Amino acid sequence: MGENALAGSISVSGIKRVLILGGTTEASLLVRRLADDHRNLDVILSFAGRTVAPQYASKQVRIGGFGGAEGLASYLRHELIDIMIDATHPFAARMRWNAAAACSDAGIPRLRLERGPWQQHAGDIWHIVPDIDQASAALAWSQRIFLTIGRQELAAFEGYANKWFLVRAIEPPDLDPSLPGELLLARGPFSIEGELDLLTTRRIDTIVSKNSGGNATEAKLIAARHLGIKVVMVERPPNPPGPLVRSVAATLDWLGQFVS
Ligand code: NAP
Repeated sequence: MGENALAGSISVSGIKRVLILGGTTEASLLVRRLADDHRNLDVILSFAGRTVAPQYASKQVRIGGFGGAEGLASYLRHELIDIMIDATHPFAARMRWNAAAACSDAGIPRLRLERGPWQQHAGDIWHIVPDIDQASAALAWSQRIFLTIGRQELAAFEGYANKWFLVRAIEPPDLDPSLPGELLLARGPFSIEGELDLLTTRRIDTIVSKNSGGNATEAKLIAARHLGIKVVMVERPPNPPGPLVRSVAATLDWLGQFVS
């Protein structure tokens, strides 16, 4: 059945069950907005369970993987889910495909909510690369590098014994990445002043960042522009075909076709 085949249908109880795939600020914000706006919705927020204490605001939260696309399709059927919002992170590369396949299988509509990417401004020195391995390969002339890519893909930089790395992550890496340098555990939002101070005191010459978008971690890019520091910017992974919106407001508009 096509993804929007159920558009406009009314469930027996009149209450629609919505599964939101979370792990992002937008997902949590959406849950709060739905609690305010659409009282005839039953909302379930799902986390992968990567972080120790996810910040959420939903009565119904589930944590942990579903067991691939098949497991997710079974869950959708078993839990009588009517609508899915895939609000996983712009760099959560696999779940979006599982979501698309499972919704297609279960015959329910799906929307991808993914915040817009950062745009390059005058004065930025960006070297855009398609993935983390290419980001690592782009560091030949860099010496003091600020890695702001999270904690899961640090191994790609292990070959550089003679460079110095400032690694910033919310939680400690699972495995010791054996990178020479400093580990900084911190959660955004970060201020421009704070980022200017960090880049200056650590004498950073290159930042490696994923193009995650959003306000919480943009200050490092503004600080880099100000200081003339190069940014190796990793592009986002592709999305499956289907509707995609950039904001919670647009998500609420889209949901309007299914709920009154
Ligand atoms: P991923 O590669 O797309 O997904 C890997 C597996 O994690 C999926 O196959 C699925 O397991 C499970 N999973 C992912 N999101 C889930 C969710 N919302 N609910 C239940 N299971 C989920 O994702 P990832 O890069 O490992 O990221 C994991 C989570 O952290 C995501 O929810 C994402 O929104 C959040 N996050 C990721 C990043 C990043 O940079 N990658 C940054 C911030 C937050 P099964 O196949 O078993 O269902």
